[in-house]
Amino acid sequence: MELMRGVHVIETNANCALLIDDRLILVDTGMYSNATEILSYLDRITYKPTDISSIVITHTHPDHVGGLASLKQKSNAEVAAHRIEADYISKKVKYPGPPGPQRHRACPVDVLLEDGDRYQELLVIHTPGHTPGNIALLDEARSLLIAGDTVRNEGGGLGPMSDVYNIDPTEHRHSIKKVAAHDFERLIVGHGQPLAEDASKSLKEAIARL
Ligand SMILES: [Zn+2]
Repeated sequence: MELMRGVHVIETNANCALLIDDRLILVDTGMYSNATEILSYLDRITYKPTDISSIVITHTHPDHVGGLASLKQKSNAEVAAHRIEADYISKKVKYPGPPGPQRHRACPVDVLLEDGDRYQELLVIHTPGHTPGNIALLDEARSLLIAGDTVRNEGGGLGPMSDVYNIDPTEHRHSIKKVAAHDFERLIVGHGQPLAEDASKSLKEAIARL
């Protein structure tokens, strides 16, 4: 679905985001089996795999990184992730926590991101707790936060991910507050419906209940 002009949400096992202007940025890649769904979505909106210029991975859970190796192969896009997460994505380092074994094919990361970096005009916000190198991306020009699993929007609204999946539940909650300190109208989350308006206001209300 198109959330706003040039911003698409591709619903796979986890939501992926697609930003389109003079470049095409894909954020997250679903499970291994979702790569074909992502490519058929692109095809429907008349883009080719090689039109993808960058793929950003928010974190190394199988429902976000699973499709990466195959999409990298078909697109030759530049791959970016937080430097901590990059080692899990490439499998240089074994992912240390739940949900268990890494069910993805190793893929090298081209660009190592840090908190506060700007990558392709997106502000990188390090949001540890769900995973050690989890990130959210703030697109200030579009007033859009792409949260990945920094926050979810299901089971009664905006809130933390289930602690079964969080490597550090306390830090995860600090990270939700960290992104809520920014102002943005729109929000895309890894799990649950995106918000098209008043997103940071709703998030601030939700964390008051944490
Ligand atoms: Zn996750």
